[in-house]
Amino acid sequence: MNDTDMHAAAQANDRLTRALLDLATQGERVRCSDPIDHARWTSDNQRDRQTAMAWCAGCPVIDLCGQAADERGEKHHVWGGVDLACAPGQTAISG
Ligand code: SF4
Repeated sequence: MNDTDMHAAAQANDRLTRALLDLATQGERVRCSDPIDHARWTSDNQRDRQTAMAWCAGCPVIDLCGQAADERGEKHHVWGGVDLACAPGQTAISG
């Protein structure tokens, strides 16, 4: 990742962080921050990740989350309602 890419990733992360803080000030939080359910977003089990993707639907920061993951070059887990382990060019860890 070159300096330009790192800067874009940092900006995307900042936008996402600000949106999450705005939610927090309203007493809301995103589903993936649930201490019990959080593991589904990073699970090796594809069914868990499918559930996480479904739970991302309607997330108020879904676009910013996906943009931040894209700018960081994330290759695994569920971000912005997308299972990156199943994205084109990736191999799912397990079914
Ligand atoms: S869109 Fe991003 S922030 Fe929202 S629940 Fe899904 S992974 Fe979490």
